Formats: sequence, C-alpha cells, structure tokens
Amino acid sequence: MNNTPIAQHPSAPNRYLEGLAPTPRNIISAVRAFARIDELGWAARGGYPGSDVLWEVTCLVDGWQGLRFYSHLRRNKPIKRHQGCAAAADHPRALAALATYATGVCTCRTTHPVTVHDVTAAFGAVDRAWQLGAPDALNQALGRLLDPCPAIALRAQAVAAFASHSH
Ligand SMILES: [Zn+2]
Ligand SMILES: [Zn+2]
Repeated sequence: MNNTPIAQHPSAPNRYLEGLAPTPRNIISAVRAFARIDELGWAARGGYPGSDVLWEVTCLVDGWQGLRFYSHLRRNKPIKRHQGCAAAADHPRALAALATYATGVCTCRTTHPVTVHDVTAAFGAVDRAWQLGAPDALNQALGRLLDPCPAIALRAQAVAAFASHSH
C-alpha cells in the first residue's frame, strides 16, 4: 500500500479529500463524485476538492490528464471532453467498453461496503480514526469508501441510502 505523505495538515487526508475535513457530508459528496466521474469515464488523480475547485483527473477514453471542475464533469460538460479527445460520437462506445469493468460485485482483496449496514460501519471507522488523529488509519478507512471498485455504483447507492437515513 502506498503511504502518501501528508504534507500540510498532520491529520488531513489529501489522497481522498483535498482541503476538506473527513466529515460525513464531505465524504458523502466525494463518494457521489467518484462514482459519477467513473460512470462518465473519468478517474480521479487526487482527492476530491469540492464541486467548484479544480480537480486532477484522467480521461479514461484516451488517458489525457488535466484539471476539471466536478460541477462541469457531473453534467458531462463540455461535450468535447478536452483538446484532442476522441470525437463525441465515439464516446458512448469507448465508455461502454470501460463499463465492462463495473460488474456490480466487489471482488477486491480488501472488500468495500455495498450495504447500508457496512457503509454505516465504514463511516464509524472514519470517525474513530479522525478523532484519534491517526492518518494511516484514516486513509485506510476512507479507502474503503473511496477506492476504485467494480461495485463503485452500488457502493454510492448504499452511501446515498445511508445519507438519507442519517442526515
Ligand atoms: Zn479524452
Ligand atoms: Zn471492491
């Protein structure tokens, strides 16, 4: 596992959240954002920074890397994803090919929560690690909610259900 050094704030997790505290609200936004960009063929290269702050992302159609606002990405804007990307008419085919990865089943070595029960436990682990000021444990707990997973969409649904019960 890659232990990303945490530069500025000893207990702030910049691998999953950039400049945002790991509050339930921020994590819920990040889970939704990671799942939405995955659906649209983008991957995060850095922590989720909020909806109107530039985010480091990779275009999965062709591997382009750059900065995009989530507020634009989530609406699938612009149609021309970036300078030099495949023609818009080719995007559905490229994205359909990628979607074969999204099996809906978590087969990861470290499993990810896809039920409200397991999501609730995962949020509890984040909260405990944050209260303890334990950055490694915090990153590990956030990873269960935010790492890539073939069941990313199912996990986001469980997190949305958790959010509607508890907030
Ligand atoms: Zn592209
Ligand atoms: Zn998984």
